[in-house]
Amino acid sequence: MEGLMMDYPLTTTTILEYGNRAFHHKRVISHLPDGTRHEYSFGDLYRRCKQLANALANTLGIEPGDMVGTFAWNHYQHLELYYGIPGIGAVCHTINIRLSPQQTEFIINHSEDKVIFVDATLVPLLEKIAPQLETVEKYIIVNAASGFQTTLSNTMHYEALLENQSEDFTWPQLDENEACGMCYTSGTTGLPKGVLYSHRSTYLHASTILSPNAANCSNQDVMLLIVPQFHVMAWGFPYMCVLAGADMVMPSLHLQPEALIRILQEEKVTKANGVPTIWLGVYEAMKKNPPKERLALEEYLVGGSALPASLIEGFERDFGIRGVQAWGMTETSPLGTVARIQPKHASMNQKEQLTIRAKQGIEFPGIEMRIVKDDGTIAPRDGKTMGELQVKGAWVLRSYFKTMNKEQFTEDGWFKTGDVSTIDMDGYMHITDRTKDLIKSGGEWISSVALESALMSHPKIREAAVIAIPDDTWSERPLACIVLTNENEKVSKEEMMEFLSRDFVKYQIPEHYVFIAQVPRTSVGKFDKKEIRRLYAEGKLA
Ligand code: AMP
Repeated sequence: MEGLMMDYPLTTTTILEYGNRAFHHKRVISHLPDGTRHEYSFGDLYRRCKQLANALANTLGIEPGDMVGTFAWNHYQHLELYYGIPGIGAVCHTINIRLSPQQTEFIINHSEDKVIFVDATLVPLLEKIAPQLETVEKYIIVNAASGFQTTLSNTMHYEALLENQSEDFTWPQLDENEACGMCYTSGTTGLPKGVLYSHRSTYLHASTILSPNAANCSNQDVMLLIVPQFHVMAWGFPYMCVLAGADMVMPSLHLQPEALIRILQEEKVTKANGVPTIWLGVYEAMKKNPPKERLALEEYLVGGSALPASLIEGFERDFGIRGVQAWGMTETSPLGTVARIQPKHASMNQKEQLTIRAKQGIEFPGIEMRIVKDDGTIAPRDGKTMGELQVKGAWVLRSYFKTMNKEQFTEDGWFKTGDVSTIDMDGYMHITDRTKDLIKSGGEWISSVALESALMSHPKIREAAVIAIPDDTWSERPLACIVLTNENEKVSKEEMMEFLSRDFVKYQIPEHYVFIAQVPRTSVGKFDKKEIRRLYAEGKLA
C-alpha cells in the first residue's frame, strides 16, 4: 500500500527557498580575491539567485540538462551559481582549478560545458586551453578589476550579466532525481570520471550532515568554508549552512595560514572545514605567533586525508580547539563517516579517546559500509580484520557520468572505495591502506601510474615505480624509484623534474628519487607496490 504523504521535492531550490523564509537575515561574508570584504544576507542571495536564473535562461540560453561550468574560488558569486544553475534544471559542474591543462581540457570537453563562469585571477589557466575547448560558447568573468583583459573570446562580466535582470523568477518544477551538480574525480589512474549528483542526494546529504553527530552545524554558528567549492561541492557546506541557518564565511584565495587566522579572528568563526595540511599550517602559525585573544573557533572538521592524532592533541592542548575527523569521497558526495567520541568512551583516558578520534569514524544515517576480505567474504567488525571498504547509500553514486565502470561496483550494489580498512565493534572505520595506485598530497591527487609512464618515456629511464611516502606537511608526497637504461648514464633529479614539468603541474612532480637495480614484481609480473612501499616508503634509501 502506498503511503499517503505529499510528494515534496527535495531539491536545491527547496533549500534556497527555506533559507530565505527561515533565515533571510543570516550572512554570507566573502573575502574576495582582491582583498576586499563583501557581506550580504541570505535574502540578498535569494534575490540574486533569481536574477542569475533569469540571466541563465534568457540571456545565455541555458536549458534544462545543460552543463554549466564554474572555475572559481569560494565566494558569494560561486554560491549564487550553486543555486541558480540547478534552480533552472541545468547542472552546476565545478571544475578543479588545480589540475594539469590536459586534465582540465579533457574534463570540459567530456562534460560538454556550454558556458564557464571563471574568476578573473584564474582566466590565464583557461586561456592556455581555450582553443581546444569544443563546446564552450561563452565565458563569464567573475571579480574582474577595471582594465581586465583576456584573450578568451566571447566573454561577459558577471555583474553586467546580472544587471537589470528581474528579481522575479518562477522556479521550474524539478524532479528530485534530476542532476544538479557534477564533479570529476581527478584521482583516478585512468581518465578523470564525472560524478553526477542529484537534487535528492544533495538535499539528503546536506540535511543529514548538519546533525550534532556529524558537522554539528546550527543557526548559532559562523562557518568558514575552507574546502574549495571546486572540490566535491565544498563538502556540501554551501547547502548545509543554508538549511542550518549558519553564517557562511568564504575565503576565496586567502588560504595561507596567516590569512585564515586573520579571517577566523575578524569574523568570529565558530566552525570550519579543511584538509589536514591546512590545519597543520594554521596550528604551526598559531604556535609561532599565538593570537592575543582566544579564537571563537570551537572545532574544525577534517577529511580528505588522515587527521594525525598529534594534530588533534596539539590543537586541543594549546588552543582548546577540537579536531573532528570525517571520511568521504567525490563518489559519496562526499561525507560518509565521522569520528566523535560518545558517552560510553567518557571513562577512557585521553590517549584511548584519541585513538578513537584518529579513526575515520561511524557512518551517517543513509550510508552503509562493510569490509570485504581478499577471499570475497565479509570481515567481522572486530577492529582488526582488514579488507576493502565498500559503501552504499542515499548519496553514493550508482554509475559514473557517460561510463559505467562496472569494476568499481559489486553485483549486489555496493561501491568499491579502493580504501583498505577495519571496522570495530562500535562501528568505527579505520583506514589502513589504499588499493588505488594514487598519492594524496595536500588534499590533491597525484596519479602514480601517469608519473610512471611519463618517466619511462625518458630515454635514460628503463623503469619507474612511484609510491607515496609520508610527509609531515602534505600528508603524502610521491617517491620515484628509477631503474636506469644504462647504469653509467646517470640522470639527475633536476633533469627528471624538468622533464616532468612538461606534463604535470608543480605539486604533482616528485622531489624524492631513488635509483634501484630492478622493480620488485608480483607473481603475475606487475609492479609489487606493497613490496616497494615496504622497502622504500619510509624514504630510507632516498
Ligand atoms: P576524493 O574523491 O578526492 O575526495 O578522495 C577520496 C579518498 O580520499 C578516499 O577514498 C580516501 O582514500 C581519502 N580520504 C578521504 N578522507 C580521508 C580520511 N579522513 N582519512 C584518510 N583518507 C581519507
